[in-house]
Amino acid sequence: MIDLRSDTVTRPDAAMLEAMMSAPLGDDVWGDDPTVNAFQEHLATLTGKQAALLFPSGTQSNLVGLMAHCERGDEYIVGQSAHTYRYEGGGAAVLGSIQPQPIENASDGSLPLEKISAAIKADDVHFSRTRLLALENTIAGKVLPETYVHQATELARSRGLATHLDGARLFNAAVASQVPLEQLCRPFDSVSLCFSKGMGAPIGSALVGPRDFIERARRWRKVAGGGMRQAGIIAAACQYALDNNIQDLADDHRRAARLAEGLALLPGIEVTSQATNMLFVHISEEHLQPLATWLKQHDILIELLYATRLVVHRDIADADIEKVLDVMAVYFKQRT
Ligand SMILES: *Cc1c(COP(=O)(O)O)cnc(C)c1O
Repeated sequence: MIDLRSDTVTRPDAAMLEAMMSAPLGDDVWGDDPTVNAFQEHLATLTGKQAALLFPSGTQSNLVGLMAHCERGDEYIVGQSAHTYRYEGGGAAVLGSIQPQPIENASDGSLPLEKISAAIKADDVHFSRTRLLALENTIAGKVLPETYVHQATELARSRGLATHLDGARLFNAAVASQVPLEQLCRPFDSVSLCFSKGMGAPIGSALVGPRDFIERARRWRKVAGGGMRQAGIIAAACQYALDNNIQDLADDHRRAARLAEGLALLPGIEVTSQATNMLFVHISEEHLQPLATWLKQHDILIELLYATRLVVHRDIADADIEKVLDVMAVYFKQRT
């Protein structure tokens, strides 16, 4: 199968599995797992933060990050199309008693500064306490402009807000913009990172930030059911990904660009955007389901949930991209 639904579908390769199998293990709830501890220390250093904490998913890493920043009745400012707001089941409100204050994202994924400023509430009993600004990078595959990130986090800080970055695909941003990970993390108090997407690990996310923040997060992670035991098998996969897989993301970006370039030549399909490893396409309503079915008959999977988003990842090769283009071309040739 050529699976373009998401970069979450990658399978661990033999070398990653070997690293998982040979990892020394302990009980991480007791703080005893040497592989987890080494990974967390390595990641803290790599991101320029004091401490790091391993999580089973990015959803939990973000949720616990928000809960470690905000208390019951606080609010966080977030993009209308941000993952934490839109795609995490409303967890901040449901489980954290944290009110989201969503703001419509601009087309580059940013939240306009004047809208952030206007959304920050005065200290008054009528309002919830605005505590946090949360951004996302990459967002819909797009790298957030670095100047913007500095302006937005500076604004937040000047108004007494903490800052959190959902960096599920921050490695893609680092590779695409050739800016070190540490520099992309620096403007934020806390960052959530995922290893189970383009990085190729089967499971694993992490939260990084100041030591006292990570201590609070460790408590909330246990409450959320994220205290894992011999978690070194997961940390070993994440560490392997850090050591071996980052630069391969450049190939994903190149292949996504090639796919966009090829699709742009086909009738019946319009590429609306392409950045890093993602592209969004517009296909007219009557073709959507028949095309998806046609592709599936040729062992190609696409997802229609996100306005037809195609995602390239390390289990997609150059030849796969050419096959997708050929199969799509035949479909549109027969029907338009
Ligand atoms: C995938 C993703 C997450 C976390 O997802 P999990 O499936 O819970 O690991 C968080 N933020 C963004 C932007 C994502 O794409």
